[in-house]
Amino acid sequence: MTKQIVLKSRPFGIPTADNFETRIVEIPAVAEGEVRLTTKIVSVDPYLRGRMSDAKSYIEPFKMGEPIVSGLVARVTESKADNLNVGDYVMDRLPWQEEMVLTASGLQKVDEKLVPLSYYLGILGMPGLTAYFGLLDIGKPQKGETVVVSGAAGAVGLVVGQIAKIKGCRVIGIAGDDAKNDYLMKELNFDAVINYKTVENMNAAITSACPSGVDVYFDNVGGEISDAVVVQINKGARIIICGQISLYNATRLPVGPRIQPILLKRSALMQGFIVSDYADRFPEGFKALVNWVVSGQLKYTQTIYHGFDQLPEAFIALFEGKNLGKLIVEV
Ligand code: NAP
Repeated sequence: MTKQIVLKSRPFGIPTADNFETRIVEIPAVAEGEVRLTTKIVSVDPYLRGRMSDAKSYIEPFKMGEPIVSGLVARVTESKADNLNVGDYVMDRLPWQEEMVLTASGLQKVDEKLVPLSYYLGILGMPGLTAYFGLLDIGKPQKGETVVVSGAAGAVGLVVGQIAKIKGCRVIGIAGDDAKNDYLMKELNFDAVINYKTVENMNAAITSACPSGVDVYFDNVGGEISDAVVVQINKGARIIICGQISLYNATRLPVGPRIQPILLKRSALMQGFIVSDYADRFPEGFKALVNWVVSGQLKYTQTIYHGFDQLPEAFIALFEGKNLGKLIVEV
């Protein structure tokens, strides 16, 4: 028997603990070609909110009464498969379940000696690859340009800002907490920061932080923060639509300003993307990120919740801004 966490009801607005339910389920014996896994680290990510609603999206909604699925690192505790041994670690999108029996083929083995295991869910995993491809492929930052990133102190934002610094850009981070912004300035050498929760006039703050205008805007949050950045873009600017977390819990979508005239007059590009668009180039992104991490050019920070039962609370914490860097749960 093992524990799993399922979706009990679809959230309306900000998710609450009542939307989740813990169940005890039976797991089968390990058959030929299968492994038993024990969950070690679970990633909680903003995009899971989209899967909790039944609106049409780029990925199927979670079914009611079925376990939430997210990036997860697990240890092989029993094996009847040739490709995995007891003690190996794997990383995949797997159910929120303490133990499980799965077919071994297709499970991705990870090297626990290269970096700490949690990195495979953060800087070397989906968030790191999102930052890498979104910024470099769409944003194409050039030396000396001004790059603004919102959600700057989160899993994706921290990597975006640091890669932009590696590329020789002036980097401005927008986050909702002074301690996070201190970290961005002191530890990651951002050039300026804005606390969107306490700033009196967002437009004035961006003008002051970006005296030469904005060449690249990496948008993790959308809403009024992005409205204020977009009016400051330069000719030929690139706007990367990575996430819109400020709208994920909206029960009615707010109407924003008309931005097409700005894009038109400044010959600017605005492009959305999903990291899986780059799946065939993941090895390239992984290699570059590993090199920067191992050489110390990319710093990594994470916020850790402890215990399987903390998963719903950790997920909800993303919408309360409780994390600096990648939010994970160690089981
Ligand atoms: P994260 O930034 O580590 O965590 C979420 C952060 O968002 C919170 O810490 C909070 O920081 C901020 N936030 C929460 N509610 C907000 C609001 N109403 N307005 C402004 N900021 C708010 O999460 P992440 O995994 O790195 O993801 C960042 C964004 O990228 C998300 O929108 C996510 O959906 C998106 N994403 C997209 C892809 C893709 O393939 N396109 C892949 C991964 C992630 P503050 O303290 O600053 O408020």
